[in-house]
Amino acid sequence: MPSTYSDDGDLEPDGLPSTGRQQSCAVCGAHPFWVHPIDPRKACFDVGGKEHTLPTFWVLCAGCERHLRAKEVDVLISLHSESACDEWDRAKAAQAVLSFVDAATQGRPLSN
Ligand SMILES: [Zn+2]
Repeated sequence: MPSTYSDDGDLEPDGLPSTGRQQSCAVCGAHPFWVHPIDPRKACFDVGGKEHTLPTFWVLCAGCERHLRAKEVDVLISLHSESACDEWDRAKAAQAVLSFVDAATQGRPLSN
């Protein structure tokens, strides 16, 4: 059965979502309006000697998009750390945001 809909959400041929459906802001969990492909060459980061890799994209809500454009990295880190349950989790959240800010490429709007 041909379908333009998949369980992963609505994906473009390049693997990026085209809508914010079934997505939530990678930083704070709100409904997203932007998608930023992540440069895979910069997607790796290290926390406590353990290597992590960012996904191929992050989606951002309107508020986090504004913080990104304003280079308010501290704000993004604190938003992303809110759900962290311990010190290590907070360190990982902070490092993920720093890596994302470095590796994110030009965002494009999602249709909602
Ligand atoms: Zn957000």
